[in-house]
Amino acid sequence: MNFGTPEKRKLLKRHNRECDEVFEAWQAYEMLPCPPLPEAPHFPEDLHDMRCGAKTRKGTPCKQKAIYGNGRCKFHGGLSTGPRTAEGKARSARNWTKRTLPKR
Ligand SMILES: [Zn+2]
Repeated sequence: MNFGTPEKRKLLKRHNRECDEVFEAWQAYEMLPCPPLPEAPHFPEDLHDMRCGAKTRKGTPCKQKAIYGNGRCKFHGGLSTGPRTAEGKARSARNWTKRTLPKR
């Protein structure tokens, strides 16, 4: 079975980045008429049918096929790291709403 290795996950991330770049270049084009949507870079053959591959509690590699951009499935991608930058922390601190304010 095609389990994800660190190299394959790196390849997947590079492919995602290439796709983003192609699309961003297309979005940045301001003249009219708009050019047709560019073709996405070829999806690497190696990554077809790639599995998550994380070690499960049973000790076997995870077989999930629905994987995110980081190459892991919804169970093994890890938790969100929360706001990392000073700007993000400030934004999160400002995210008070009526609903989250303590009731009087
Ligand atoms: Zn998994």
